[in-house]
Amino acid sequence: MSSIKENLNTILSQLPEHVTLVAVSKTKPISDLMTAYNAGQRVFGENKIQEMVEKYEQMPKDIEWHMIGHVQRNKVKYMAEFVSLIHGVDSLKLLKEINKQAKKHNRTIDCLLQIKIAEEDSKFGMSPDDALDLIASEDYSELKNVHITGVMGMATFTDNQSQIEEEFKRLKSTFDKLKAIDNSLHIISMGMSGDYQLAIECGSTMIRVGSSIFGSRNYSN
Ligand SMILES: *Cc1c(COP(=O)(O)O)cnc(C)c1O
Repeated sequence: MSSIKENLNTILSQLPEHVTLVAVSKTKPISDLMTAYNAGQRVFGENKIQEMVEKYEQMPKDIEWHMIGHVQRNKVKYMAEFVSLIHGVDSLKLLKEINKQAKKHNRTIDCLLQIKIAEEDSKFGMSPDDALDLIASEDYSELKNVHITGVMGMATFTDNQSQIEEEFKRLKSTFDKLKAIDNSLHIISMGMSGDYQLAIECGSTMIRVGSSIFGSRNYSN
């Protein structure tokens, strides 16, 4: 059995039924994705639109492609035809562009609002208050080709488990407040290779795992 398949099965065996595994395949070759696909994995996450498009073209068509990285507005058009879920939506402007491109393909694109939960400054995301304003806004209610289905967050890169836990709890409580306004929300995307068990304890319904499935990434090539 390949190690990718073993890794997948190990993670899946630990997951409660309500948690979806997004296999983060960025930088990895098609052959690795196909190994995961042949082991039954159907949800893949990429953080660069160009790379996701290339992989979409080469892989079987029953895959759900998730865009988990920061999205530049001028590139939304390249993925609008096929993307299943965009995790990193952090402004009304971006949401409007996704709506516009989705409309061209006569579809509705599901989106997550990325919430800034980490202490560190480098992470993208909206404040909980801005997310609440957005979801309650008339602007959003007028967008018929996007659907906000939940939230996404990234914890600070640290070994301090109690800090990570605090940040995950912040995302869960933000989700609860948003859901009180819009009951259709059902996704909390949080947890990566190093912290997905903790994320699940804190209420995650979707984990994004790369290196624990595919091995460490090499960015030099
Ligand atoms: C790369 C990436 C992941 C996966 O990270 P691993 O530590 O390899 O599991 C998850 N989420 C986002 C947004 C990423 O960019």
